[in-house]
Amino acid sequence: MKNIIYLDHAATTGVKEEVLKEMLPFFSIEFGNPSSLYSIGRRAKKAIEQAREKVARAINAKPKEIYFTGCGSESDNLAIKGIAHSLKSKGNHIITSKIEHHAVLNSCKSLEQEGFKITYLNVDKDGIINLGELKNAITDKTILITIMTANNEIGTIQPIEEIGQIAKANNIYFHTDSVQAIGNLKIDVQKMNLDGLSMSAHKFYGPKGVGALYIKENVPFEKLQDGGHQEKDKRAGTENVAEIVGLGKAIELAYENLDEYNNKLLELREYYISEIEKKIPNAKLNGHRTKRLAGNANISFKGIDGGDLLLKLDEQGICASTGSACNSGSTKPSHVLTAIGLEQEYLQGSLRITFGKENTKEDVDFLIKNLEEITKTWR
Ligand SMILES: *Cc1c(COP(=O)(O)O)cnc(C)c1O
Repeated sequence: MKNIIYLDHAATTGVKEEVLKEMLPFFSIEFGNPSSLYSIGRRAKKAIEQAREKVARAINAKPKEIYFTGCGSESDNLAIKGIAHSLKSKGNHIITSKIEHHAVLNSCKSLEQEGFKITYLNVDKDGIINLGELKNAITDKTILITIMTANNEIGTIQPIEEIGQIAKANNIYFHTDSVQAIGNLKIDVQKMNLDGLSMSAHKFYGPKGVGALYIKENVPFEKLQDGGHQEKDKRAGTENVAEIVGLGKAIELAYENLDEYNNKLLELREYYISEIEKKIPNAKLNGHRTKRLAGNANISFKGIDGGDLLLKLDEQGICASTGSACNSGSTKPSHVLTAIGLEQEYLQGSLRITFGKENTKEDVDFLIKNLEEITKTWR
């Protein structure tokens, strides 16, 4: 079998060995239900609380402000719908952006069906919102701002601290989808004035199917799911103990050597971009040149179909993406690339490369060699 060169870390990542090791006992010998009062149940409960402390420490929150969920999408739903439902007597207006993940966009669409009004902020050509436009959008009915920390397609990082200040000054709650940011950027919920934050373990070398939501103390939000009293009555259902333990370990490891990790990714990204600039004409970097996640390089190749390009790269064992995993298979151009106003000839030709811990310079060389050949033949 050919070696796989995995360059799609924004879609998902593999579980780190140390993470898996901590998870394994909770699938077998430590199988107790955390709600049970005998010792094996209490040990499961304790493991969950330790994971909660790790998550809280990583983002400078309190453990009681952390809720475990089934994924990043669920965290987004719970935060946005939960806050909206509990504040509907106060106001019915929510502000978000045009480049959010579908978990946020479709939560907002669903609230529109219920009568909420949503403002979808524009972004500039780099994918950054305009703070003036945000301020102008605020009305006395605005109850929530939800803007992502970093974009999953183009890696652009939003001015979260400034948005937090605007939200605070106007007494509006501020939630951010940090699913791409956690494990890649330093996050401080207090410094950033955050009332809500979503994360998902599988984006930072933890398991798939577990997420967490930070909701600041005293911020009201309604649960989405009825049942038992787990997660302080906000998320019914027996806890996914092993995966919660995995999420805790993964976030702890991610922030232990964040700088080293980011420097490595940055070096690969810069090398990749400079090689493209040198060797492949009519290629264009999407997203901000510097205000972007270290491992993200989203480049459009003029006149090339991104979907065909992916399949051709796959033949060589290279795993990449056209944008978000949720967009592949659909022929509609990406809502993010549309929002940054990308020209038609570039719109269908995007290739998102997202580097991770196991990648090397040789991987980049192999990718470049293939891209050179493919673009030469196809153009
Ligand atoms: C992956 C992702 C999600 C969804 O997380 P899941 O755990 O896959 O549900 C939400 N928002 C962003 C920005 C993401 O990248």
